[in-house]
Amino acid sequence: MGPPLRTMDILEQMSVQDHEQVVAFQNREVGLRGILAIHDTTCGPALGGVRIWKYASEDEALADALRLSRGMTYKAAISELPCGGGKCVILLREGMKRAEAFEAYGQMVESLNGRFFTGRDVGITDEDLQAIARTTQYVAKEPDQALGDISEHTAIGVWHGLRACLEFAGIAKKGSRVRVAVQGVGSVGMLLGRILKREGMELVVADVNAERAAEAAKELGARVVDPTEILFAECDVIAPCALGGVLSIETVARLRARIVCGCANNQLTKPEAGDELARRGIIYAPDYLVNAGGLIRGAEYFLLKRADSKPSLERIHERMLRVLEIARERSASTARIADELAETRLKQAKTFRDLHWGDKAGKPSGSSN
Ligand code: NAD
Repeated sequence: MGPPLRTMDILEQMSVQDHEQVVAFQNREVGLRGILAIHDTTCGPALGGVRIWKYASEDEALADALRLSRGMTYKAAISELPCGGGKCVILLREGMKRAEAFEAYGQMVESLNGRFFTGRDVGITDEDLQAIARTTQYVAKEPDQALGDISEHTAIGVWHGLRACLEFAGIAKKGSRVRVAVQGVGSVGMLLGRILKREGMELVVADVNAERAAEAAKELGARVVDPTEILFAECDVIAPCALGGVLSIETVARLRARIVCGCANNQLTKPEAGDELARRGIIYAPDYLVNAGGLIRGAEYFLLKRADSKPSLERIHERMLRVLEIARERSASTARIADELAETRLKQAKTFRDLHWGDKAGKPSGSSN
């Protein structure tokens, strides 16, 4: 007999933040291993990207899927979208037959029959998306002219959020040299950089991929700093656009920026880091509020069949201002206010569903089984 299975641990972890479903999937022939977490579908089917990453362990991959899928639910809720949150992580492994593995992943998504829609996240290439699209219709396939570039929608959304932060802080707009440090110039970071350059801002960039940092520096006229230093650069705004977990009590203590606003998911290591930002008077743009542009476009395209998400992306500005104002009134952190707003909408949606559909399983009242 091998070591004891840890199924109970998974169920236990799912119950902590009320996840609906976790799907572990594998295809040995092509070296595919992944975990899909569906957090909440009260407001509609779960939307969320797929990430491929070299996880140190299955536990780490599961934790990432659980955390990211919950973030998607909050993102959808605060953006008032008719969808819920899910996320998939694929464990990057040597010997993986990449195209076949993503086709197999697409088959798994297809088997869920529209309960989960997938798209791009960290590490996913255009070729991967094309492979997924060969086996499922439930994918934000790019380039798709009508859908547009999801990362670009995300970058535009972050910009609208940043505009609100700059206004709230009284930092001058176009023309003056607002200094922004961009951590990670991948898909979204680079697109955000282009917008900021167009708006006349002075940029500092860093990327663990030195080639990417150099390209960004050339195109954006930016200064490159070491990835270990970018967070603490002397600037007005720090835009975390790489991975999550960058804002801890310790790192917040060393920030020199007045605003933190970027696209990375799960920037705070824990809610207390958000409190510390508020205590230091640093404006924090809640990640899932300002990085919702891609999700907004995806939901409007797939679920509402809307041609143009521009007005909805612009609403990120108004939502960000509202959060800032409530946080000021209540002397609370913007992170906690955003959570409260998202949780209130979810609660309302659950009440509505239970009133109209009888019970929590979504069964119409009066049905006998
Ligand atoms: P990406 O993989 O294209 O870019 C990430 C970049 O960060 C890469 O260039 C990578 O080399 C760099 N990087 C990694 N670690 C770093 C570090 N420690 N310091 C500096 N650079 C580092 O990913 P992306 O699609 O641009 O997404 C970036 C972040 O935004 C992720 O956290 C993702 O979950 C989040 N996000 C993306 C979207 C989207 O539409 N793509 C939407 C919402 C949220």
